[in-house]
Amino acid sequence: MKKIAVFTSGGDSPGMNACVRAVVRTAIFKGLEVYGIYRGYEGMIDGEIKRMHSYSVSNIVQRGGTILKSARSEKFKTPEGRKKAFENLKALGIEGLIAIGGDGTFTGAKIFNEEFGIPVVGCPGTIDNDIYGTDYTIGFDTAVNTALEAIDKIRDTAAAHDRIFFIEVMGRDAGFLAVESGIGGGAEFVMVPETATDLDAVVKSLKNLRKSKSSSIIVVAEGDDEGNAEEIMAKIKSKIKDESKEFKVTTLGHIQRGGNPTARDRVLASRCGMAAVEGLLIGKSSCMAGVMNQEVVYTPFTDCIGKTKPLIEDHLKLIDILSI
Ligand code: ATP
Repeated sequence: MKKIAVFTSGGDSPGMNACVRAVVRTAIFKGLEVYGIYRGYEGMIDGEIKRMHSYSVSNIVQRGGTILKSARSEKFKTPEGRKKAFENLKALGIEGLIAIGGDGTFTGAKIFNEEFGIPVVGCPGTIDNDIYGTDYTIGFDTAVNTALEAIDKIRDTAAAHDRIFFIEVMGRDAGFLAVESGIGGGAEFVMVPETATDLDAVVKSLKNLRKSKSSSIIVVAEGDDEGNAEEIMAKIKSKIKDESKEFKVTTLGHIQRGGNPTARDRVLASRCGMAAVEGLLIGKSSCMAGVMNQEVVYTPFTDCIGKTKPLIEDHLKLIDILSI
């Protein structure tokens, strides 16, 4: 293998740049020619592919977002789109790919590998931490800390006015972000898609809690089974039926995707990026380079996509016990 290319795809996450940097520099260190594909699969189809040098990734290790840009590509979901993408790679002599993204990105990569045989190794880039085969995903730690900073600030005003605050964090299908920011932020309740939310039980606890506490923080993952934070707040308000209580909702939104990556994310991104290049060179394909129990592991895309990473049981228990 002499030429490889790297791209970022799906939702961006802090640390993607550190990962791109690690891929580019490791590839050059190993004597490879390396290319950057802009705007994910969309740019692969449109031929937005540029040679990268060591200096192309200077001064980006600390930056959020992705210098390669990211996109969602409907065209890549069609056989014609993927054929065009492959022709563009073939014209440049690119023999291996490194895909930085989430499970959607890996689904596309798996299909592409099956159709054209081009080896692809993935790196887990998403703030959701919902990818099987790695303890943490690139961007998760930064997003948790961003959410935490917001929760700390909201707690001040919640306490000052004796309010119940519902804070919505990202997580359509996974509650990792809600759980860790909830534990760190001392939330009274955390509502996540993985477990059924019992609103009556929450109302009962809230009434009990209010005998000892004047304000409460409830962290809601956007994909909770009872709805988003706004909907859950309305349901709880109607059940509590106490006009003297003030309920507020704050949706953190895209602020959670940005910002300088934490040290932990930069290290994880660098490790995964280097491992992805080394993986390609030893013949790995259709798999993701992740880190589990401090060790680099390669997990087949089939498992990354098909298996669900469960929430840590102890974390849920912690929230219950510590909120008394
Ligand atoms: P995040 O978890 O942050 O949303 P992701 O990688 O899961 O990241 P998606 O938007 O789901 O983000 O997927 C990224 C891209 O992967 C899609 O826009 C599409 O181009 C490609 N992709 C996803 N699923 C398929 C599929 N079934 N076939 C071909 N390509 C796909």
